[in-house]
Amino acid sequence: MRAIPSSRSLLPSLTTGAGPQDSRIDTPEPLSRREFLAGAAAAGVSLFLQTSRPSTPREDATSWAWLADTHISRNTDESVRGTNMAGNLRRVVESLLAERPDRILFNGDIAFKKGLPEDYDAFLKIIEPLKTHGIPICHTPGNHDQRENLSAALEPKVGSPLDGKRVAVLDDGGMHWVFLDSLERVNRFSGMLGPAQLDWLKQDLDAHESHPAIICLHHHPEATAIGLKDADAFLNVVKARRQVKAVIFGHTHRYRRWTAEGLHFINLPAVGFWFSPTVPLGWLRARIRPGTLELQMHTLKADTIVKQDVEHLPLR
Ligand SMILES: [Zn+2]
Ligand SMILES: [Zn+2]
Repeated sequence: MRAIPSSRSLLPSLTTGAGPQDSRIDTPEPLSRREFLAGAAAAGVSLFLQTSRPSTPREDATSWAWLADTHISRNTDESVRGTNMAGNLRRVVESLLAERPDRILFNGDIAFKKGLPEDYDAFLKIIEPLKTHGIPICHTPGNHDQRENLSAALEPKVGSPLDGKRVAVLDDGGMHWVFLDSLERVNRFSGMLGPAQLDWLKQDLDAHESHPAIICLHHHPEATAIGLKDADAFLNVVKARRQVKAVIFGHTHRYRRWTAEGLHFINLPAVGFWFSPTVPLGWLRARIRPGTLELQMHTLKADTIVKQDVEHLPLR
């Protein structure tokens, strides 16, 4: 199946482009532990449920761990610039077990370079404790993933509502989550969503107009040489729809965030390896409360993981 019918016309496009700004630091907050929620990402399913009932983030909002760029090789001794990716992920898994988020996002580049089935076997072995504890996992494909191998490893029974692309949606904690597929060619840097996926996204968001939404994709939505080729078209779609509160991505291996027209853009740090030794590796804990998105960077140091102060981002 492809497009989902929409009952309303598309909103006009707004302007594009806004420069990154430095993160703001706020006060720390204790971590909470919650019972895990059963079930994997309900890809496609909620597209066919109710479309107009308003929703808001709940006070007891689902807590997430957002990870990107694990780059796991079938050879788990593989290192890049002196950093062993499998070792990093093992340490992160330990910290996830201690903090027990309700859900985990792996936002692309799960595999080392080409998305070999053996890469995903190695990845699954490392994250096995998370599955044992029943923590649901969501994912997006990156430019170093192979779409079919990735889906076969992580969600063999879940299909995609868009031919040739792995897209999924999830309604959880009063939020509408959309997981996009920016993989254009395996092991090439730049990415693209394409007109069909952008049309699908418009129609999905318009069918969930009263639901606050978060969009996840691997490539950073900037039309640079290694970024998203159709970043401007994507930004026109998400900026114009005020229900979209944040866009989450990875790919640059660098934690940064900025806000444009009240919409938050959050570039996740890498777990696997760095492009610059001054840029920290790590993962983000996230919780969406009414009116606020809470973020907490967990930075990988040589022998520990440091929890940074919690950042509070107002939702538009
Ligand atoms: Zn990467
Ligand atoms: Zn990438």
